Amino acid sequence: MSYQHCWVDGSAIDLPVGKVVCVGRNYAAHAKELGNEVPDAPILFIKPASSIVPMNTPLALPQGQGEVHHEVEIALLVSERMRNVDAKTAPWKIAGYGIGLDLTLRDLQSELKAKGHPWERAKSFDGACPLSGFVDARGISGKQPLNISLAVNGAMRQQGSTTQMLFPIFELIAQMSEIFTLEPGDVVLTGTPSGVAALHSGDVFHAKLGNALTVEGSVA
Ligand code: ZN
Repeated sequence: MSYQHCWVDGSAIDLPVGKVVCVGRNYAAHAKELGNEVPDAPILFIKPASSIVPMNTPLALPQGQGEVHHEVEIALLVSERMRNVDAKTAPWKIAGYGIGLDLTLRDLQSELKAKGHPWERAKSFDGACPLSGFVDARGISGKQPLNISLAVNGAMRQQGSTTQMLFPIFELIAQMSEIFTLEPGDVVLTGTPSGVAALHSGDVFHAKLGNALTVEGSVA
């Protein structure tokens, strides 16, 4: 499946497709539901460009490796290189806001964590990062707090707000940019609220970002 960053109207965005920089446990309630401690520095990991797929095409989940959980997250599309930026500069280098699903092979991740192994097998596989179209950042960046939610088969599963984040979006990006240079076309995922659960074949979901964006999708 070829993927290209798009605006919500479906038109292509003139940026390459880069890496996805993600944060674990950025909402205290989600850390708690998985029995994890709240971190004092962001827990960062990367999904490669090869993990990105469009959210509005039926999702093909990995088979035979246990539960695949949804983690709905606010996604930001990077427009300009960021290296050691501060939280005040970062908003100027964001092209758009969207919704990402940090799909996670939860049973496998638990095994990897117990062994002290890296998480990539559980979080960075092909198709592990469905992304929506993006809303122009100029229309949204002044409108914080932002809410994010995910309903599956009509039942609300996850609801969160930027006000619940342990590391607010631009503070998080500043810290990410100290470790990983963010390039034009990279995406930042900002962590998931509580309510993560398994997806199954035939599920239909609705993801919502504030009043700016609603995406309908399904699992193949
Ligand atoms: Zn996540």
